[in-house]
Amino acid sequence: KFISFEGPDGAGKTSVLKEISSKLSAQLGAKLMVTREPGGNAISESIRRIILDKANTQMDARTEALLYAAARRQHLVEQIIPALKAGRVVLCDRYVDSSLAYQGAGREIGAEAVWQMNQFATDGLEPALTIYLDIEPELGIQRIKQHRQNEINRLDVEQLAFHQRVRTEYLELLHQYPDRIKLIDASRPFDDVVTAVQQAITQTYPD
Ligand code: C5P
Ligand code: MG
Repeated sequence: KFISFEGPDGAGKTSVLKEISSKLSAQLGAKLMVTREPGGNAISESIRRIILDKANTQMDARTEALLYAAARRQHLVEQIIPALKAGRVVLCDRYVDSSLAYQGAGREIGAEAVWQMNQFATDGLEPALTIYLDIEPELGIQRIKQHRQNEINRLDVEQLAFHQRVRTEYLELLHQYPDRIKLIDASRPFDDVVTAVQQAITQTYPD
């Protein structure tokens, strides 16, 4: 069972994923694997460091997309595929859809090109379920300003228009993959969001 979590900045993905993980962990124990790219393997971590260094340099958008795809590939091979083979339930914080939204639309390389690159990277391995936490960019940014002062600098660099393109692409993906992607309205109170996510998971995986 392979479930990804997606959403624009400020949707509350981190908190929701934490809550869902602890609930599922009580049920599943060691069968549960919660992971996020780069996933703690040495190669992906090295790649991640290069991506994060971009604040100090001028990284080309395609270079960034290629590096995300490379880190994703290694995480898939070293962490996700072995876990799935062992019959574990994998919750992954961001996956290919993030690249389509952030690099494809946000940085305007085009979702189609980024999709092709990620097909190569993943050999087409997709989650059966993607939880998409939806939030309007204005509200998402407002939440971050209230709760996470340390992220403000990065947000100011990336304009509102960037975040609007990201969300528009997520909504486009939702339209394209209605069976895989479930939209959860993340502007609602936290507990309601968590309940909705639990319901979506139960719907796809009843047992
Ligand atoms: O998931 P999290 O909120 O920690 O993501 C942090 C940031 O990483 C995102 O807001 C985005 O700016 C960036 N990111 C990206 N492209 C990806 C994944 C993440 O630009 N494929
Ligand atoms: Mg975040």
